[in-house]
This record gives sequence, C-alpha cells and structure tokens, in this order.
Amino acid sequence: RKQKQKRQFAVIGLGRFGGSVCRELHSMGHEVMAIDMNREKVEEYRPFSTHAMQADSTDERSLHSIGIRNFEHVVVAIGDNIQASILTTLVLKDEGVPHVWAKAQNHYHQKVLDKIGADVVVHPEFDMGKRIAHNIVSDKVIDF
Ligand code: ATP
Repeated sequence: RKQKQKRQFAVIGLGRFGGSVCRELHSMGHEVMAIDMNREKVEEYRPFSTHAMQADSTDERSLHSIGIRNFEHVVVAIGDNIQASILTTLVLKDEGVPHVWAKAQNHYHQKVLDKIGADVVVHPEFDMGKRIAHNIVSDKVIDF
C-alpha cells in the first residue's frame, strides 16, 4: 500500500499573523518550515516549527536551494513591505508551489496578489471584521 505523503507547509514572515499560522500548524502536528529574514524571529520560532531558517524570500536562489517547490502550501505573511510580498509570491508561483496563500495589507495589494497568481489572498483585519459583524448579528460566539 502506497503511503500517503505527509503534507508540507512553510510560513514566510513571522510577524503576528505568520507566527500564529506557524504555531497553530505545528501544534496540530503538521510539518512546518518557518522562514524569516530576521535572525531573532527565526530563533523565537524554532520551538514552534519543524525547521526554522533565516532567508530573504525575495532572493529566488535561496528559495530554490531550500527546495521550496516541494512544499504543498506556502504562506506569505510579509506585511509592511508590499514589494517583498509581491516578489516572494511571484517567485513561489514560478517555482511551482501549488498553493500560495498571501496576506494583503490593503485593497491595492490584494488586487496585485490576485493578478500575479496567489491562490488565496487573505486580508486578516478586513476578513475578521466581516466575520465579527456576522457573529454579532447572529448572536454567536466567535468560532475559533
Ligand atoms: P503582523 O501584523 O502579522 O505582525 P506585519 O504586517 O507587521 O505583521 P511585517 O512585520 O512587515 O508584517 O513582516 C512580518 C515578518 O516578515 C517580519 O518578521 C519580517 O522580518 C519578515 N520579512 C519581511 N520581509 C521579508 C523577506 N524579504 N524575507 C523574509 N522575511 C521577511
């Protein structure tokens, strides 16, 4: 019987959003690679990931040498530097990553990410605001 290959996840950018995605995947028992250009972030997330490494994700050679194409899902959680987020997303799609999830900072960023082939674009504050509005109306407790 062919064994099902374990799903591989990577998170690029370990701010509040990316860090939370990384911790949660790790606590669910998934293999997750944590990547950030900031060495302190890399050290902080070492206990909450399978591998943690320092890399600038806009450098296509470093993503290539990590073997990023072998990851099924890669989350681009770079916020402030929109240019770096866009470039990283482009490199990931060029490398052939099947599912690229990208965090958008604003509507313009969201549009660009959609256009260049991000598979899922999330806009956390906006998405969560919508969700909370629905939860308030239906008198529900937030469901996470
Ligand atoms: P949050 O709101 O989720 O805390 P943020 O939107 O403020 O995050 P940033 O702080 O801009 O996001 O970026 C998150 C992380 O991404 C930072 O830890 C930063 O070091 C990392 N980062 C930024 N650019 C790159 C890059 N080119 N390669 C790797 N990591 C990067």
